[in-house]
Amino acid sequence: MKAKTRLLLTLVLCLPLLTLHPTRTARIVSAKAQPGESAWRDEFESPSLQPRWSWLREDPTHWSLTARPGFLRVITQTGGVFATRNNQKNLLLTPAPTGDFRITTKVSISPSESYQFAALQVYQDDDNYVQVNRSYAGGSVVSFDLELGGVVTNTNVAVSATTLYLRICREGTTYAGYFSTDGFNWSPVGQYTAVLLAPKVGLGAANNLADVPEIPADFDFLQVEPAVTRVLLPVIMKSFTALRQTPVQQPSPTGSPTATPMPGTTPTPSPSADIIFRNGTVLTMQGSAWEAEALAIRGEKILAVSGDAEIQALLGPGTVVVDLHGCTLMPGFVDPHTHIFNSARGSGLSLEEAQQIALENGITTLANMYNTQEFLSEMQEFHQSGRLRVRTSLYLNYTTNCGEVLGDWYRQHPPTHVPGEMLRIGGVKLFTDGGSCGCPAYSYDDPRCGYGDLWFSQEEMNTIVAGIHASGYQASIHALGDRAAEQALNAIEFALIGQPNAARHRIEHNSLVRDDMVPRYSQVAPVALIFGAYPACKATTNPPPEAYQHWEWRWRDLIAANPNVHFAWHSDSGSDLFPVAPLHHLYSMVTPFEVDGDGVTICSTPEWLTQKMLTVEQVLPMMTTEAAYALFRDDEVGSLAPGKFADLIILSDNPLSVPPEAIKDIEVWMTMVGGRVEHCAPNHETMCPGGGLALLRSDLP
Ligand SMILES: [Zn+2]
Repeated sequence: MKAKTRLLLTLVLCLPLLTLHPTRTARIVSAKAQPGESAWRDEFESPSLQPRWSWLREDPTHWSLTARPGFLRVITQTGGVFATRNNQKNLLLTPAPTGDFRITTKVSISPSESYQFAALQVYQDDDNYVQVNRSYAGGSVVSFDLELGGVVTNTNVAVSATTLYLRICREGTTYAGYFSTDGFNWSPVGQYTAVLLAPKVGLGAANNLADVPEIPADFDFLQVEPAVTRVLLPVIMKSFTALRQTPVQQPSPTGSPTATPMPGTTPTPSPSADIIFRNGTVLTMQGSAWEAEALAIRGEKILAVSGDAEIQALLGPGTVVVDLHGCTLMPGFVDPHTHIFNSARGSGLSLEEAQQIALENGITTLANMYNTQEFLSEMQEFHQSGRLRVRTSLYLNYTTNCGEVLGDWYRQHPPTHVPGEMLRIGGVKLFTDGGSCGCPAYSYDDPRCGYGDLWFSQEEMNTIVAGIHASGYQASIHALGDRAAEQALNAIEFALIGQPNAARHRIEHNSLVRDDMVPRYSQVAPVALIFGAYPACKATTNPPPEAYQHWEWRWRDLIAANPNVHFAWHSDSGSDLFPVAPLHHLYSMVTPFEVDGDGVTICSTPEWLTQKMLTVEQVLPMMTTEAAYALFRDDEVGSLAPGKFADLIILSDNPLSVPPEAIKDIEVWMTMVGGRVEHCAPNHETMCPGGGLALLRSDLP
């Protein structure tokens, strides 16, 4: 506002498989990708193939990268690898990642005669492979085929769409096949157990029978994502007694800062905890009653949350016990829109120093919102050197804040969704209107800005957002003025074509909303991000015309009118306009006072803005679970529950029980990320497992 303001995401790494089969036993194994393996994606935009590819039985007259630019076109011809057939032409292959992985393609094909097909494959040889394919088999279907030693198993699901996403997830010896019409909502076709030796992954299209017309199959891309860590299912515990009697296979307690076994004992697999916090107020942010007394951690994850007595049962010889003395333990704050990293240099800080400020303020997960190609490289290097200690999502810029188009460079960097990953490509950031460059786009003649600056026409914005959506990325759309927010709502609606917002496309700021736009948030269902602190100490200009004042920061209206919409806070920190500290934003959101960007100065909220005031009960989820939702991390962090990462903080007081005016004085005494202490406040070492010594971090990778 007056202030500066500034893939795919394939949703879950093979998690659909697990959630679709809830009766499956939780098998907990750690599997790491080999060093150097990283996700990649070939968009088939170039007129020649990347060197990673090789053809099997190439017939250059039946494939092309130029017949339909941006696509690999394979023309079906007689041949196949099904059962006794071992003569398929033009199989495009590349080595599969070792360990678990996920591969995805998008293909257009209109098969109408028996056995025309286009396939995504995991291929050992012509007699050993799995493939998911769009084909015609007495009807239009998606098939999932397994061939082992020449013996074929197959399952079909009827579909009519001629453009489909196909996916295969490998998890151990399990291969699961999926398809999707939108790249977000995935349906299973089947799953098989198979051991394929040194498999390749790739694409192909053919006619299984002779005398069938040759038709084109257009592959839009192939995306390959190695799994860095295995998806772990939360261990569901009926009672701790039962747990003790039934040995549960646990991940090895890697990453634990302090699990030093007693002398003379041998560490053996057991259900005991590495760390126990007890005798405190544990704000779980989970379920209807948020409060528990104690929490147990094993490795990098939460083992249990319960009463003191129950948690006591998880005590083992190597367990470190922290007495909270009544202090509050809660999930680390999630700030889904900051500039803490990209503005570090401008503030004279190193990336380490910027990160340390976040950790000291209790932030364990954040999104850095302004990332050019150059800055992305800098962040990747920072992460690869092992120095990134706060979970970070990067949103890659499609435009600058002045609306200059940076283009599709983001497509070289597929969104990632590995649970617990420290660095994630979250999505694509774009600007509809001004704020930090030019002015927000108002629908009235503002005395300071006129009608403001809208960078695109509605039609252009629709095309841009639909393109981001179709490429499998989450869009994050800056919109300050009401004309900008309206344009963002329209563009998301256009991209979704009536489907639910499974991509979680976000609108940032939502600072100015006309009356007629309020109910549209329910219709379009964007993830709506709203400011915490208002820069009252800096806003020296006059208020907007009285008739429009109620459009500003109308959080109460928006939340009351749209109960099913996901609202999350954001700090937008990184300049002196907004503080970093989530507790200062919380204070601003629940009192008629503001904390300045210096974190110290207090100013009164302008009277025409008091409808931004919410309750602590409303805001805390926006700073934890809902903020995690905005980052697709709600299965990983944001609440304290068994199986989630041990990202948590100890506060000197409970924000739910102190008077709102005292919230700004609550201190963060300890910050833990993935079971490891990353900040320990001076004089509070007894609250930090290992007495804060973990900060020496001799186990730094
Ligand atoms: Zn921003």
